[in-house]
Amino acid sequence: MSQPDVIVVGGGIGGLGAAYSLTRQGLAVRLLESAPAFGEVGAGIQLAPNCTRILDDYGLLDEAKSLGVVPDAMVMRDAVDGTELTRLDLRHLEERYGYPYLVIHRSDLHGLLLRACERAGVELINNAKVTSYENYENTDGGGARVTLANGETHAAGVVIAADGLHSVARKLLVDDQPVSSAYVAYRGTVPAEQPRVKSVDLSEVVVYIGPRCHFVHYGLRGGELLNQVAVFESPKALAGQEDWGTPDELDAAFEGTCDFVREGLPYMWRDKWWRMFDRDPVMTWVHGRIALLGDSAHPPLQYIAQGAIMAIEDGWVLGEHVARNRAEDGTVDWTAALAAYEAVRPEHCRRVLTTSRKWGELWHLDGLAREQRNVLLRARDTYDYSFVDWLYGPTALTPEEEPELFTPIPLSSAQLPEPAQAVGTP
Ligand SMILES: Cc1cc2nc3c(=O)[nH]c(=O)nc-3n(C[C@H](O)[C@H](O)[C@H](O)COP(=O)(O)OP(=O)(O)OC[C@H]3O[C@@H](n4cnc5c(N)ncnc54)[C@H](O)[C@@H]3O)c2cc1C
Repeated sequence: MSQPDVIVVGGGIGGLGAAYSLTRQGLAVRLLESAPAFGEVGAGIQLAPNCTRILDDYGLLDEAKSLGVVPDAMVMRDAVDGTELTRLDLRHLEERYGYPYLVIHRSDLHGLLLRACERAGVELINNAKVTSYENYENTDGGGARVTLANGETHAAGVVIAADGLHSVARKLLVDDQPVSSAYVAYRGTVPAEQPRVKSVDLSEVVVYIGPRCHFVHYGLRGGELLNQVAVFESPKALAGQEDWGTPDELDAAFEGTCDFVREGLPYMWRDKWWRMFDRDPVMTWVHGRIALLGDSAHPPLQYIAQGAIMAIEDGWVLGEHVARNRAEDGTVDWTAALAAYEAVRPEHCRRVLTTSRKWGELWHLDGLAREQRNVLLRARDTYDYSFVDWLYGPTALTPEEEPELFTPIPLSSAQLPEPAQAVGTP
């Protein structure tokens, strides 16, 4: 095998997106995936306009739309009484940002990117578990090399490590561990013929927020499936027990929620669940010719649904900086391209990680704080986009283009409404 320009480690959504973006720039890309086959586990994924804009640039948006659902609204409800708190008009949102909000099965998004990589000529290799990374120098400007569990080595001008939450490459940059949120997610898909599906409006993405729990549903595959996600704080995790997040905890966590939410629980998969971890943000992602991308750099809690999107954005931004730092003879100034990537992505992703944690706290409030939150959410103007402009607007290529973060009013503020106003608000 001749030496590629780039090695991408990891064939998840982030690795495939990066491999496609870099191949589009005319580079020879080899992707190394540890699993024996490419695939994704889980159910649905939400793609906001900052992602569908990139899929459109890649020529993949029409296929993504044909595989998913473009919903009309995103509705937030209180999980205890079921009442509506606020909504986003997703058709209006599409007009504002120029691209749709899309929901799609994970395996469909992954398959779409995999096929795009195959068509573009990415060299896709399975059973390739990377155990170590190193930079090397030579007269051509050097590069990086990876070693596999079977002893093979692969070298390239640059290595992109898209190896997920438990990244091996991340250890080159920081000595940290995943942070447990003590929350766990159950997922499930319900076929359209089930009575449960008849009770929902598949044109809506709905999230029910409640004390230490929330519940999400939306349609997939043109309405053939209803996707459901149930997330809760595990008392066993808080008590330090190893065996946390079990189905008995699922049922107990949602006992105080409205009928509609509880009636969805029997449809969740009960043989697997996802413990929710993130990591503290890091601002250095590049080590010589080795760069982190996707969850290896910035695994978030999923509350603002931006993890896979950030990974896709990372790949697109890197591709754009390769284009800007490419000489006429085709050689890439990797030092400049990686520096430009690192100048813009870590700050944006830091905001996403910290906002996701705060958003989770807001969703899971109880007692008086929950009532106060509900008053604020009910008072929100449906067409106020100040809290999502920084996320859904165009993906920045330079720090100067990155929009300001909207700072929400802290819930401890003395200006919060009296609880009497909160209770009984329609
Ligand atoms: C419940 C839940 C809901 C979510 N909802 C959304 C959502 O609505 N929208 C959204 O944008 N995001 C969402 N996310 C987040 C999103 O799923 C992740 O951020 C995203 O999938 C990360 O992609 P990745 O490619 O960076 O990492 P991964 O998907 O973890 O892929 C890493 C890949 O690298 C491979 N690998 C690992 N180690 C090695 C190695 N040593 N050698 C070779 N290969 C290796 C793995 O096998 C894997 O294929 C959600 C997450 C959860 C848990």
